[in-house]
This record gives sequence, C-alpha cells and structure tokens, in this order.
Amino acid sequence: MIGTECPACGEGERLTGNRAGAIIHLECLTCGETWDRNPTPTCPRCGGTDMQAVPKAIVEKSRGTQLSVVGTRTIHLCSSCDSEILEAYHRNRPNPLMPDQLPTTET
Ligand SMILES: [Zn+2]
Ligand SMILES: [Zn+2]
Repeated sequence: MIGTECPACGEGERLTGNRAGAIIHLECLTCGETWDRNPTPTCPRCGGTDMQAVPKAIVEKSRGTQLSVVGTRTIHLCSSCDSEILEAYHRNRPNPLMPDQLPTTET
C-alpha cells in the first residue's frame, strides 16, 4: 500500500490490508503489528475531497418521552453536496448535528 509503513518496524512492502468501511485495517507481515488507517475521506456522490469532519449526535430515548444525546460520532460531509447541512451545523455550533431520524417516542 503506497505511502503506508508499519509504525513498529517501518516495513513498507509486506503489509496486508482489509477495508472495513472508511477505515483500512492493516497488518505488518514482518512483525505482526496491526493498525488502522483512515484514508482521506472522499464524497461518495461527487468524488470530491473537500470534506468537513462534523460531530453528529447519537440520540437515545431515555425515560419517558425525553430524547437525550448520549454521545457524538464524527461524520464527513461534502462541501458541495451537503452544503445545506453544513450551513445548518455552522449556525448551531458548537452543538453537534442532530440525526436525520430521531428515535421514535411512540410505544
Ligand atoms: Zn512491522
Ligand atoms: Zn460531494
């Protein structure tokens, strides 16, 4: 894999990679070290690399009908395809982006 070296022994050739979503799990065949590599995010729609990392809220239904933010995960949004979402996010900063679909409060 071009541009990748084992962080433990510096091996750059005898590496094996397993793609898992946006992340590549790498293993060094020389020393057995394993690590993850997060490639430059690319927009799946337009192929552009002008992506912005944005925290997105993880919302869970708590007691009753209250929804609470239990954490955030980082998502990547495209500056051109997701410009409206990014605009809304920047307006609400530093609040994280809310999920597109909130867990239903119906029983
Ligand atoms: Zn190694
Ligand atoms: Zn795009």
